[in-house]
Amino acid sequence: MPLDLLQRPVKQILTRSSGYLLAVSSHSLQPYRGCTFGGSLCGVGCYVQHNAFVTQGRTWGTFLEVRSNAADSYERHYEKEKRWTERQGIPFVIFCSSSTDPFLPQEKRFGITRAVLERMLEFPPEGLILQTHSTAVVDQTTLLQELATRTQLRIHVSIEGDHDRLPGLPPPAATVEARFKACQNLRQAGLRVVVTAAPLHPLQDPEAFFTRISEVADAVVIDHFIEGDGSSDGSRTLRTPLAAAMHEVDPNCLTLAYRDRMVEVAQRVMPGRVGVGQAGFAGEFG
Ligand code: SF4
Repeated sequence: MPLDLLQRPVKQILTRSSGYLLAVSSHSLQPYRGCTFGGSLCGVGCYVQHNAFVTQGRTWGTFLEVRSNAADSYERHYEKEKRWTERQGIPFVIFCSSSTDPFLPQEKRFGITRAVLERMLEFPPEGLILQTHSTAVVDQTTLLQELATRTQLRIHVSIEGDHDRLPGLPPPAATVEARFKACQNLRQAGLRVVVTAAPLHPLQDPEAFFTRISEVADAVVIDHFIEGDGSSDGSRTLRTPLAAAMHEVDPNCLTLAYRDRMVEVAQRVMPGRVGVGQAGFAGEFG
């Protein structure tokens, strides 16, 4: 299906957190509406496809709205939102992004995320979490190094498991190995890197997976689609082909008990550097 691409200014780029993000950050920031990784592996179970406010009836992965004024909107609302966090007694922490990827292929052309990050040099939040599936985050290393001197920066790279393909599903936006390499490059540049195994996929060699993570990242966050997909029992994901594909690889992986077993392995391999679920996304590791 051809991509429906349009440039659309946004009224307010900073969204006050609610739901899952409430314990993670004060705000979220989406440089784009829609996600062109929607047709790749992560898009199959992507929680955002269930958000009618975002999709407005469109098929996930087939549309992208470029928020052309994102940096200006950020600057315009910065003081007001910062004061709001002070009144709430919470740190001004931004999660970028929860319903798109900040480093989509289209970012090369439009530079929306980059413009926001540059604006943050002048108007820094107290904390910034950059969440991505894309190895293109590495292209911004110099800017991120500068930003890390002004804000508590954490780069979350999504690596859900050690299989590059799940049966019957499309390939990922970047291979597992390419994402590990991206983590390694970012960490060698002195940046704080967290691998997010979320939603956790079945692992063929859990010990080796977490050992590799321990070598290229500061920490790992493990989250299951149960408790993690915005429904109380994982029913959103169970309705997608992701659950069936996971089941085909390992019928035991569709339970929280599986997550807990993988958390045990991770804690053995990288003690003190393992986060679970929402608390993990908030930066709590044990
Ligand atoms: S990159 Fe994130 S927002 Fe985009 S399809 Fe994948 S999981 Fe969804």
